[in-house]
Amino acid sequence: MDDLSRFCCLNSACPEHGKRGGGNLTVTGRYGHDKSRRMLRCSACKARFSERKGTPLFDSRLPPGKVESALEHIAEGCGVRQTGRLCKVNRGTVGRLSKLAGEHARHLHDELVGLSPPDARGPVR
Ligand SMILES: [Zn+2]
Repeated sequence: MDDLSRFCCLNSACPEHGKRGGGNLTVTGRYGHDKSRRMLRCSACKARFSERKGTPLFDSRLPPGKVESALEHIAEGCGVRQTGRLCKVNRGTVGRLSKLAGEHARHLHDELVGLSPPDARGPVR
């Protein structure tokens, strides 16, 4: 049995949106080279999404403020050690966050690029 208590529906129009452990999610399939990623489906709104969709905050047990602070430091170019020291966050946690944030940023980038209408003014110079 899959433990889905950490996950919640990501459809903002869904009544179950953001509620974890509501029993509304089921695993509809697996993907990835070793089938390690799950596709989830919400029974309330029928939305499907990957368990990896979501923000870097999704899988963190840190208070959100700490996560954001650590991510800001990483974004500003601080190393993992430095970020950990400045934010008083465990170095291993910072490493994991920065990896998650990197993956998230890439997905977000792909989504934004995919969705952005072409700019009529042409490329920015
Ligand atoms: Zn839903």
